[in-house]
Amino acid sequence: MKTFRIGGVHPAENKLTADKPIRDAMLPKQAVFSMFQHIGAPAKPVVKKGDKVKVGTLLAEAGGFVSAPVHSSVSGTVSKVDSVLDASGTRRAAIYVDVEGDEWEESVDRSGQLVRLSDRPELDSKTIIEKIKNAGIVGMGGATFPCHVKLSPPPGCKAECVIINAVECEPYLTADHRLMLEHADEILVGVSLIMKAVGVSRGYIGIENNKPDAIKLMTEKSQAYPEIEVVPLQVKYPQGGEKQLIDAVIGRQVPAPPAIPINVGAVVQNVGTAFAIYEAVMHNKPLIDRIITVTGKSVSNPGNLRARLGTPMQQLMDECGGLPADTGKIIGGGPMMGKALLSLDVPMTKGSSGLLIMNSKEARRSAPQPCIRCAKCVSACPMGLEPYLLATLSTHAEWERAEANDVVSCIECGSCQFTCPSCRPLLDNIRVGKQTVMGIIRSRAAQAKK
Ligand code: SF4
Ligand code: SF4
Repeated sequence: MKTFRIGGVHPAENKLTADKPIRDAMLPKQAVFSMFQHIGAPAKPVVKKGDKVKVGTLLAEAGGFVSAPVHSSVSGTVSKVDSVLDASGTRRAAIYVDVEGDEWEESVDRSGQLVRLSDRPELDSKTIIEKIKNAGIVGMGGATFPCHVKLSPPPGCKAECVIINAVECEPYLTADHRLMLEHADEILVGVSLIMKAVGVSRGYIGIENNKPDAIKLMTEKSQAYPEIEVVPLQVKYPQGGEKQLIDAVIGRQVPAPPAIPINVGAVVQNVGTAFAIYEAVMHNKPLIDRIITVTGKSVSNPGNLRARLGTPMQQLMDECGGLPADTGKIIGGGPMMGKALLSLDVPMTKGSSGLLIMNSKEARRSAPQPCIRCAKCVSACPMGLEPYLLATLSTHAEWERAEANDVVSCIECGSCQFTCPSCRPLLDNIRVGKQTVMGIIRSRAAQAKK
């Protein structure tokens, strides 16, 4: 069975919610929409205090090409245009809407009827990309890169295939798994739309073999789509990384940055994104909700919730039995790549794939010991880097050497830190180095332009 070639680890899967069907979260009393729910320029508010909005009303327009608009997920009144402390711990511009009822924009088709590509022969590539852009779709695996940008390859690059990331390799998370079991038909239409948008006749859906029910169902359903192949993959973290997935599925290796997947002919999208694209293009539904896994060993009623964007994480936690007494750490996302949340008083955003509560035993970190030069971190790194060296260079602020040793190629997967027997905080240090070096590279480029 296929997998990627370099490095990788096998953390405990802990997919506690794999058999929990998706359930609708309650409407919040107030929804808060950050203008920074995507990578790129922040969205620019187009509403003001006192405005009435419906579900699907445009709240903020894209702030540039690499940006995405934000739509209201609720109906009610804009109570303020202010700021909010988001999951990154940063205060960001935000729009607050007090919820009244649940009235939707009439343009949104809520019939739930399956619409196939053959039902809409008028859809061409340009129209599909325009609809995706206007719906504010971003990468829903957590990367939050505006989708329309990825579907518009730069000059000189040609897409050869679309690869759908359905591996969900992060422990604990099961939102994508449930989505495949409950919306396989819609996902396949979504994949066809992406393929049509980028003009390719080959599509792959990569699924790890710890989801045999999803592999079976998607394979059966894809029989009606001869151009789409479901590819079962060995379980190995971080197979959901774009470069690792491309290597696993089509055996091509993306060179070091600035090379990107399109340089080897691949366009990668998350399976949740494919579903959101289906809803946007076929039902005119902007990105206003998503599936989030709320989980943890001490959570009394964990589950997969379809929740409106802007809903406070505290409310989702309450719906899953409340914050356990032995909570040691709250994480937005999964345990490997997720970020610790300072509180549950943050709104759900387009990139919120999970809310993980680690109990105090799991959250305890052993004190770091000296490096024993075992090279386990080197063997684990899927990017072929030397994590112990990058971490040391970062702590000593040796930025030139960190750059020369390719710190910017780090995908922040945490495999090195996970595998280190000396419990060294490798990723924490490498992240600082990567951000600093990227800042240096950006300012060098800006200087060169002057
Ligand atoms: S976090 Fe970075 S350095 Fe560590 S294993 Fe992942 S890619 Fe390699
Ligand atoms: S895994 Fe840890 S102890 Fe081993 S070489 Fe890497 S940093 Fe050192």
